[in-house]
Amino acid sequence: MRCSICSSTDLSALTHPHPTRSMSSNRDVLDIPLDKRICRSCGAILECGPSPDRLFGDSYDIYARPGGAQDHARTRRIAEIVQRYHPAAAAPRRILDIGAADGALLSALGEIWPNSDRIGVEPSPVAAAAAHVHYGERVVTGDSRTLAPDDLGFDLIVSVNVIEHTPDPHRFVSDARRLLSPDGRLILICPDGALPNVQILIQDHLTTFQACHLNRVLGDAQMICVRTDRLTDTLPGFQVACAIPSDGRMTAPGVPELDWSAVDAHDTYLKSWRALDQILGDRLGTRAVIGYGIGEMAAMIQTYAPRIFQRIDMFAVDTPAIERFEDRPVLGITDAPKTLPILLLTAPRSQKVLFERLSAMGRSVVRFDDHITA
Ligand SMILES: [Zn+2]
Repeated sequence: MRCSICSSTDLSALTHPHPTRSMSSNRDVLDIPLDKRICRSCGAILECGPSPDRLFGDSYDIYARPGGAQDHARTRRIAEIVQRYHPAAAAPRRILDIGAADGALLSALGEIWPNSDRIGVEPSPVAAAAAHVHYGERVVTGDSRTLAPDDLGFDLIVSVNVIEHTPDPHRFVSDARRLLSPDGRLILICPDGALPNVQILIQDHLTTFQACHLNRVLGDAQMICVRTDRLTDTLPGFQVACAIPSDGRMTAPGVPELDWSAVDAHDTYLKSWRALDQILGDRLGTRAVIGYGIGEMAAMIQTYAPRIFQRIDMFAVDTPAIERFEDRPVLGITDAPKTLPILLLTAPRSQKVLFERLSAMGRSVVRFDDHITA
């Protein structure tokens, strides 16, 4: 196994949060452990386990349904970030979204630039097929090599939360570079690898990038990374890199430094997940429990704290949109029996407010944001 950024073989293993289980980005429990390793040469974190078969095949259905209001708000925020990193003077005529999912972002970009010609490529056929139905956007199944060989000259290429899934980030960026017009712009958004958080728990996040790694990959593809920013306020936990093709005359701005302490903090973070099942067991005793939340964090708990997840009798949310989740009923919070304690299955940053709100309703609430903070 070689580092996907620098090709070094000097890799050291990080703690796995569960000995036999890991989670995919489709929120499926995989029966293989996480195998994250640090490249001791460049500080990238790599997933070195086997690739699950056909991850983006027919069963990758997370985009089969149109997103809810929260998803739309998030997509609009991402579109606004793209707009901010695109020169204000010229509207892009041709836009490509690599990893376009169900076309939600293309549609939001179409609202900003209504005269643009837009296309997306997406490896999941389920998501690509949904694009026309959900948003009337053109998304073809495949990757950037699926486009016709003469389909070049995009003014704007965006790719959101894709590069961390690619086995070869150098090839991914080179392919994007080839498709750009000479004065085009590539805008990448991906998890901010300087912050340990749940993204490291996802098996198919093959590379965890800090800004310096994005700079390196873009530079190797003859692109100039004009900006990298952490999206602390607009999209917490993510970063953006904005690059233009190099004409050989421009000099790149300084490359941000690697933060080794952030690399090592990922191991501490993974260790806290490894202890979570036991810690929640201690907090709950032997009681059955209501799980509050059915999103990404619920899937994380299901994967990495399975003994606690087994104890969940039912789920509660504010406004149920589905009747069952993981074979258990989903109730509105006001309908959930008051005799059972509630375990928060939401992002740590939201737990304080939820704890206060549900406690004020007379509920017994268990949280874990003191143990896992992001
Ligand atoms: Zn490396």
